[in-house]
Amino acid sequence: MRLMNFSAKGSHEMMRPSTNRKNPMANPKDKSPENVPGPYYNDSTCLDCGLCPDLAPQIFRRQDEGGYTYVYHQPVTPEEIALAEEALQSCPTESIGNDGAG
Ligand code: SF4
Repeated sequence: MRLMNFSAKGSHEMMRPSTNRKNPMANPKDKSPENVPGPYYNDSTCLDCGLCPDLAPQIFRRQDEGGYTYVYHQPVTPEEIALAEEALQSCPTESIGNDGAG
């Protein structure tokens, strides 16, 4: 089951790629250790709901033993960035961030 929240904004607004967006809720000082370097990351508050790896399996991967998800591929294409942004906006625990790190 995919959890999606399209109620607050139109889907076009949510899908707009934004590589400079800062997410004040996810904590860049609490990144999961497996995150690859780059702007997008998951922090340790991930509850392993499965939404982001289901939505964008090319970007997010589950750490089976730890029970959390991390970024194993930084989005590059507009399509990947849109999926990462959708996951960021949809995460129920606001555990996905974009700190703009290069
Ligand atoms: S980061 Fe958020 S959306 Fe992704 S698995 Fe964890 S809780 Fe779910």
